[in-house]
Amino acid sequence: MSESVRFDRLFIGGEWVAPHSGAQISSIDPSTEEVWTQVAMADAVDVEAAVSAARAAVEGKWGRATSPTQRGALLAKLAELVRRDAKRLAEIESRDNGKPLKDTVGEMARAGDWLNFFAGAADKLNGEQIPYHPDMLAYTRLEPVGVVAAIMPWNSPILLASWKLGPALATGNAVILKPSEYTPTSMVALAALAEEAGFPPGAVNVLPGGGDVGAMLAAHPGVNKVSFTGSQGTATRIMQAAAGNLKRCAFECGGKSPFIVFADADLERALRIAVGSAFRSTGQSCSAASRIFVERPVYEQFAASLAERASRIRVGSQFDPLTHIGPQTSQMQLDKTQSYIALGLEAGAELLAGGKRPDGLERGYYIEPTVFAGADNRSRLAQEEIFGPVTAVMPFDSEDEAISLANDTSYGLVGGLWTSDVTRAHRVAARIDSGLVSVNTFRPVHYMLPYGGYKLSGLGRENGFEAMRAFTETKAVVVDLTTAMPADPFGD
Ligand code: NAD
Repeated sequence: MSESVRFDRLFIGGEWVAPHSGAQISSIDPSTEEVWTQVAMADAVDVEAAVSAARAAVEGKWGRATSPTQRGALLAKLAELVRRDAKRLAEIESRDNGKPLKDTVGEMARAGDWLNFFAGAADKLNGEQIPYHPDMLAYTRLEPVGVVAAIMPWNSPILLASWKLGPALATGNAVILKPSEYTPTSMVALAALAEEAGFPPGAVNVLPGGGDVGAMLAAHPGVNKVSFTGSQGTATRIMQAAAGNLKRCAFECGGKSPFIVFADADLERALRIAVGSAFRSTGQSCSAASRIFVERPVYEQFAASLAERASRIRVGSQFDPLTHIGPQTSQMQLDKTQSYIALGLEAGAELLAGGKRPDGLERGYYIEPTVFAGADNRSRLAQEEIFGPVTAVMPFDSEDEAISLANDTSYGLVGGLWTSDVTRAHRVAARIDSGLVSVNTFRPVHYMLPYGGYKLSGLGRENGFEAMRAFTETKAVVVDLTTAMPADPFGD
């Protein structure tokens, strides 16, 4: 861990600054329900300071003043440091959000992969020459958008930060990272690594704080782009606040992802992936398989087997190596999950597994992996994002019905289908309304693959070169190569 990290400070303009109000965020370990650490909390004065520092960087020594190769080298260094400190960063995140340590260790390795990809991509993104007229030299320059506010959720802080930092820094933007108030700690540690990597002052700033800090950044005229991952309600509020200066907005929001199993699928494969996709990260994943549609002839068998596998998942402390899934991240998240279980029961869905606090875990925000059968796809249980370990298995009778049920949602992040019929695979994939459709696998997220949502699941795409372009403004430059005097437009 970098020597310079100060969890009681904000990281602004390359300095470790005491928060203006002196306030600290108390971070709670969700398995003990006790405060385990305190982290500095920003206010409006700190937001002003961070925006000024980021503006100074992007208009000074950073941004257009650097070469893509330099920016790539800094990102590669940051990737190396994240990998060096992976264990410590993972311990921090597990403590903050309750994810099993082996999962957070894996996320740090993946964050390193993401940063490395964008390090390598930094000098491979070019403008183009446009030969629209023989006497005109026309070309485009891809320039940084400017100051980017990266507003983060709590479920995978450093991994999701790497999705934003990578392309934003590779293209020369200055970034203000605003972690979730539930998981502020690892982002402060990441600030120290950015400092150690050698980014110039103001290129990376970290402002832990609540929704008010996010709202101030979204409304601030000195911020050029908001790159947000979180809930759809917050995205709507950001879009309204950002309208004042027509900020560029990119939103990665939630989902209610359909997982469609045809009777001709390899059911054992589908079951293994279904149980992981529904319950890994305690279901606190934007792409969780929260609606599982199964063709009628294999429905009963599939639902029973899924429930049996769900009931074998070991729930426990994030630091117990035997744990499969940990607690929910917060009391609020646990309450939300429990309220949807109650809604499912009230609406007459059949509880096949879970539904209550696990035996023997009296403290901590724990809930059992829960499987409902026979829910109505129009019910709140099947329509609203729960972000907890709850899935609903529902039958279908035809391909058309499966597609119509899958698309009957206001979300459109991820969809998956399982079949051995290759023609059907492509036919159905073409008709699912989501940013990612997988066949005989589920949510294969990769730094080279565009990721993002249709409908209320988001706006824009992260990852790959598409993400890099999204952090640039395209400037067209046109040079007249002729020397002939143009006609006087107002002459006789
Ligand atoms: P959230 O919307 O409650 O909060 C996200 C961030 O926004 C936090 O940092 C919060 O402080 C900030 N915020 C709150 N109010 C704000 C405002 N008015 N203006 C600006 N910022 C504000 O979401 P969450 O509970 O932290 O995260 C869970 C959500 O994130 C789920 O919906 C999940 O699906 C989504 N998510 C999506 C992806 C994806 O890649 N699509 C990945 C992870 C999580």
